Amino acid sequence: MARSGEPEQEVGNLVLVLGDQLDLDSAAFDGFDPSRDVVLQMEVMEETCYIPQHKKRIAYFLASMRHFKDELAARGRRVHYVEIDAPENTGRFETEIARAQQMFRPARTIVVEPGDWRVAEKLRRLVQPPEFRSDRHFLCSRDEFATFAERHPRPILETFYRAMRRKTGLLMDREGHPIGGAWNFDAENRKSFGKYSPPLPARPTHAPDTITAGVLRLVARRFADSPGKLDDFNLPVTRGQALTQLDDFVANRLPLFGTYQDAMRSGEPFLYHSVLSGPLNLHQLRPLEVVQSALRSRSAPLNALEGFLRQIIGWREFVRGIYWQRMPNYAEENALGAELPMPSFYWTGETEMRCLAEAIGHTIDHAYAHHIERLMVLGLFAMLLGVRPYDVHRWHMSMFWDAIDWVSLPNTLGMSQHGDGGIVGTKPYAASGNYINRMSDHCRYCRFDPKQATGENACPFTTLYWNFLDKHRKRFAGNGRMKNQYANLDRKDGSELGAIRRQAAKIMAAAT
Ligand SMILES: Cc1cc2nc3c(=O)[nH]c(=O)nc-3n(C[C@H](O)[C@H](O)[C@H](O)COP(=O)(O)OP(=O)(O)OC[C@H]3O[C@@H](n4cnc5c(N)ncnc54)[C@H](O)[C@@H]3O)c2cc1C
Ligand code: SF4
Repeated sequence: MARSGEPEQEVGNLVLVLGDQLDLDSAAFDGFDPSRDVVLQMEVMEETCYIPQHKKRIAYFLASMRHFKDELAARGRRVHYVEIDAPENTGRFETEIARAQQMFRPARTIVVEPGDWRVAEKLRRLVQPPEFRSDRHFLCSRDEFATFAERHPRPILETFYRAMRRKTGLLMDREGHPIGGAWNFDAENRKSFGKYSPPLPARPTHAPDTITAGVLRLVARRFADSPGKLDDFNLPVTRGQALTQLDDFVANRLPLFGTYQDAMRSGEPFLYHSVLSGPLNLHQLRPLEVVQSALRSRSAPLNALEGFLRQIIGWREFVRGIYWQRMPNYAEENALGAELPMPSFYWTGETEMRCLAEAIGHTIDHAYAHHIERLMVLGLFAMLLGVRPYDVHRWHMSMFWDAIDWVSLPNTLGMSQHGDGGIVGTKPYAASGNYINRMSDHCRYCRFDPKQATGENACPFTTLYWNFLDKHRKRFAGNGRMKNQYANLDRKDGSELGAIRRQAAKIMAAAT
């Protein structure tokens, strides 16, 4: 492996591999000549500092990159790897690439299109910009999505998902109909645990090897002030570990994945979820192999298989398509004019609201919270409060192991905050504390009452929910999907609404 101070040398191609491009078979390696080409991997400080980052997230990325370097070397590929605390490391993408270009004088620098608009722009502005190759990790290319969006000027998930089912043939019969006679089984996939709590399978363990242990020491030393906890690190940092995680999911969790997909339970962050978003987003796993492995399950019912398939070939591909179609302006969208900053308790979990304390706690402990915690607790409260959507996205980028711009931005700014005015979802995911009460056991242990909108024990979600509907009446009252919500609001008389508005104003003032 080349190190700093190496004499200048000429190589064929310099192949740049970013931290979320850890696929040995990526397009970057097409035509790779082991006798002449060099791979460049860099750990740059600016990527760990441009926003504060959870310790586990930093450790996850660095450990995954370092293991990938060894996998490349085992395949006989020469790697120039710049570690974060190497004295010659300038800490910035642009300067590190320029340094490597000067060192190796490659005929070409090659990179797969980055998943982050900001990074792609940086690379385009280099004195010697790289050759971009399209990313074949995804099942729907950017061009394909653009064609789809031309045909469907207001693309919605359902149309896209059906097109993807037809294209891939997954869970389709020979006549081109969905297996089971329906495109979705959502009605079966909304159960909460109620009094019945099935025992949860133990999670697979990925004991840190010497590489991971070294990274954990580095993070503890260099990033002591970063948010989040580093203890009990158990994230899959190699393709091998990710495959173990996948096998474990298919065998032990998938059968109940659909049924309890939306459920929450105190002290249980992972439930029946796969915890595979990280390896998928770092490209250690491919979406097709993940869904094919799930579809081979003999024990999972159709509602689980379809629910899982929808997430991977539907939502995941859809939000990526939206991101690349609408960037860079997408990041600035703020359709509801939300202007409050992120409440400080999102960094500490110190709040009396039990559901939020629980979801933030999972995030601080594991850099993970499952979808409904992100959408219907963390995101919901921020939207009802009126937090700037981009700030919510930045907080997500800071705190989650799986956050990459292309996936976090449309999910956070779009789906959870309705900041895009209805691109990712046609209506805001607005709900009161009653939804959380139905889907979790949190309210049982909370000092607030989800049924009350005013008074000392009123649940802040419930107060803010009615206030949100009232405040945005002009925008949403005509939305057919919100008819019932507005019919319920209309049952409130003027004095009740006045009390709700006053209480909501107090909550907003106290939260910021
Ligand atoms: C506010 C908010 C922010 C989010 N930020 C991210 C993010 O930064 N990175 C990320 O990967 N996912 C994000 N998601 C989507 C989803 O919550 C996570 O993918 C999921 O919770 C990861 O946990 P899991 O692997 O156990 O998922 P599972 O519940 O087991 O789902 C299986 C897989 O489906 C995919 N998936 C499911 N829902 C989505 C979705 N809406 N968009 C894209 N992929 C999806 C993921 O790859 C996931 O691993 C966000 C959702 C919300 C509401
Ligand atoms: S009562 Fe309200 S704040 Fe408390 S846990 Fe339930 S939804 Fe959350």
